[in-house]
Amino acid sequence: MKDSNFLKENNGRYFWQPMGHPGVAQTTPPIIFNEADGVDVIDIDGHRVVDAVGGLWNVNLGYSNTVIKDAMKAQIDALPYYSAFKGTTNDKAIELSYLMQEFFAPDGLSRSFFTSGGSDSVEVALKLARQYHRIKGHGARTKFISLLKGYHGTHFGGASVNGNAKFRNSYEPLIAGCFHVPAPYTYRNPWNESDPEKLAQLAAQALDDEITFQGANTVAAFIMEPVLGAGGVIPPHPSYMGLVREICDRHGVLLIADEVITGFGRTGDPSGVRHWGVKPDLMTLAKAITSGYFPFGAVMISDAVAEVFESADASGSVDTGYTYSGHPIGAATAVATLNETNRIAPWTNAAPRGAELKAGLQELQLEHDVIGDVRGEGLMCGMELVSDRDAKTPLDPNEAMRFQKAAYEAGAMIRVSGHNVLFSPPLIVSSNDIDRILTAVKAGLGIL
Ligand code: PLP
Repeated sequence: MKDSNFLKENNGRYFWQPMGHPGVAQTTPPIIFNEADGVDVIDIDGHRVVDAVGGLWNVNLGYSNTVIKDAMKAQIDALPYYSAFKGTTNDKAIELSYLMQEFFAPDGLSRSFFTSGGSDSVEVALKLARQYHRIKGHGARTKFISLLKGYHGTHFGGASVNGNAKFRNSYEPLIAGCFHVPAPYTYRNPWNESDPEKLAQLAAQALDDEITFQGANTVAAFIMEPVLGAGGVIPPHPSYMGLVREICDRHGVLLIADEVITGFGRTGDPSGVRHWGVKPDLMTLAKAITSGYFPFGAVMISDAVAEVFESADASGSVDTGYTYSGHPIGAATAVATLNETNRIAPWTNAAPRGAELKAGLQELQLEHDVIGDVRGEGLMCGMELVSDRDAKTPLDPNEAMRFQKAAYEAGAMIRVSGHNVLFSPPLIVSSNDIDRILTAVKAGLGIL
């Protein structure tokens, strides 16, 4: 390894980081990690912290899973790459598709299309939705509807259905025909409705109205995260997604569940749709599919949608894909991760540890006016920081960053996004790890 002086001198100098200002990175260098152990990450100065971010919502099985690591090493020797474009494929991708249909059978999903990550998966799902209608002779169904506050990655399609201005403004014009409806976000919503169940009905009605306004025969799909993640961890009322399913069915609109974060256990169930008792038409996955050990993603397709493609003439050909779709190392990593996921059943730990984290944050809220709202579902929690609790004025993001830094010094890697604090630790954390996170949060709040 290069010595730490070299790394610090060059940190931020030549490497433009995603989601960051390249100039600011030079004056405020990022933390440099070079080791991890269990659920902890260790920086080049030897400072060890519990990772309350889980990498980036993805390292669900922690950093030290030797079954996954061994599978990766073996695959590098056996077949480091071969294309899965039509005509060729590889053994691990086939094995993975078999395991995936077993895992997602309760969600009514059986076919996999593999990608290199979440943004790719969203792009493919949006394309498949349009193509599905075109095959059926409904080529006018091209529009997409999504939730304000939703996050669907950064490609042009995903950015167009994103509901956070920050990820859109610098890149407009985005693709035409994308429309947004309010999310069932109890803390802030246009109706000032504080009853989550009533809000679910209002938000669902807004979707119904928007589809009608656009003309149902022009709408291809509605895409949503079962629990809004990057937008601030915003769980809907349990009734919401069922209402959405009914509305989509009534209007012939496909329902795309973006489970890039919620897939594989984070909600406390194997998938977010299972958590809410709903079956989607398409599901996007990435992140925990390899526990973050290799860039990989998937779109899962329902039997009914698959049937339309598979029985079609040439119009059913899926003319999109990536050099790394079904990458053998990625597929081998995902096979090992899925086997480990089935063995460990991490959703069984996610629910109780998430409840502990949420309860601990709620306790801190009683002492700290700066915490406007605490939310959570399974092992994803959100905390909204405000400078005025009554007016719900968002805290200055620079102050939120100061909080993040202080919490880091106190022993936990915590992620702020604007004035929101987002928690998504590995699903294998212990109660002791949750205590370590809460202790660090408390220390961080102490400086605000
Ligand atoms: N969809 C959701 C719900 C996400 O949370 C993310 C990333 O956080 C993406 C899509 C994009 O995934 P990626 O960053 O792997 O491209």
